[in-house]
Amino acid sequence: RYPAQAIVDLATLRDNMRHLVEIVNADESQPHTEVMGVVKADAYGHGLVPTALAALAGGATWLGTAQSHEALVLREAGIGLDRARILTWVNDPYEVPYDELLRQHIDISVGTIDAIHELAKAAETVQRSAHGEEPIVAHVHVKVETGFGRNGFTLDQLDAVAPLLKELQDKGLFEITGQWSHLAVADMPDTPEFVDETEQQIQRFEEFTEHMKAAGIEPKMRHLANTAATLSRPNIHFDLVRPGVGLYGYEPDPAMGTPEQYGLKPAMTLQAQLSSVKTVPAGTGLSYGRVYVTEKETSAVIVPVGYADGIHRSASGFNEAGARKEQHLGGPVVFMTKQGPLVRHVSGRICMDQFIIDLHGSAEELGIHVGDTVQLFGPGRGQEFCEPTADDWAQAADTISYEIYTCLRNRVPRLYR
Ligand code: PLP
Repeated sequence: RYPAQAIVDLATLRDNMRHLVEIVNADESQPHTEVMGVVKADAYGHGLVPTALAALAGGATWLGTAQSHEALVLREAGIGLDRARILTWVNDPYEVPYDELLRQHIDISVGTIDAIHELAKAAETVQRSAHGEEPIVAHVHVKVETGFGRNGFTLDQLDAVAPLLKELQDKGLFEITGQWSHLAVADMPDTPEFVDETEQQIQRFEEFTEHMKAAGIEPKMRHLANTAATLSRPNIHFDLVRPGVGLYGYEPDPAMGTPEQYGLKPAMTLQAQLSSVKTVPAGTGLSYGRVYVTEKETSAVIVPVGYADGIHRSASGFNEAGARKEQHLGGPVVFMTKQGPLVRHVSGRICMDQFIIDLHGSAEELGIHVGDTVQLFGPGRGQEFCEPTADDWAQAADTISYEIYTCLRNRVPRLYR
């Protein structure tokens, strides 16, 4: 039995997707926009295949992965082309299994000339071995660099490779299915500076379309929007949007508001069972470095998860020098007591496999025992108290909620309900 579990609510994932689909198709005068569930990185830690199925049940028609093997796993799990188009951004540095991707009818992103050559070679090989069956054509999404500084063709590079793309298309090896890019600051607070940067990316994106057109290439679909743009910029929904974090029930940045405000609900609950409950006197140093010292006699309890499980050590509430972080308590934990839910915070440094919490009271009086289930974060329910979410842990760890659920390790089993 594992001492901690991440419970993933599949109906919530489905409903979040349903909601995102409704948002993009709210304006019937606009052309229909499809929705991709971004399920890279084991579906942001929620579990690749169950999450993909929930996203499809909610109306997604595309699935997106960063690495090619994730896309293959989806097909191996029985998610055929009749159920979902899959696009992989192919972040793999080498030995990309292009042949296999083609045979599995997976759409492929290209952003370098080498990738185009390799993919063309694989498409030729696969077509040669078609033996009378309908030849497989590579469905290519051309990644363009509009201001993220990460990957994709610059405008000059695109002009140089466009004739090659056209040639491969005319030969029947490639279908140029998509033109796409990624936004750098769409999730930042709405200040003129950040809005401008996104506007510039949009303008550059349009320029790429013009250049493609001039070279005789007209991608069937264009896509640019992540969750932030899906929620806030209907003008760039184009043919497909690619929400990730919204599917999991979070807004990209707490500065944008709460998930609830967008009709989204966090799908994951992280819980653990207490492994120790004891009384300690005043002046007891808790955990490494004794940075936390109890002020009076109290109950100290142990939650048996630590940074080896993906619980960020930086959520301890103290910096490396041992000073309490300004405005930052340690990560929150909810106890169900005789009097109702009680929120307490990590007290002292998070260890590899466990952390300690000062209850600031008597466990016996509160009715807290070894084996009790406590909750680190959940969907944020609760009228009388504010249930912590991954955003609260992100704040305690100086990071973003994405990192909180994505970093949970396999030692924390995902349970589905
Ligand atoms: N598109 C691409 C290319 C991405 O890499 C990501 C994730 O980082 C997304 C879409 C989804 O972004 P978000 O989770 O912010 O919606």
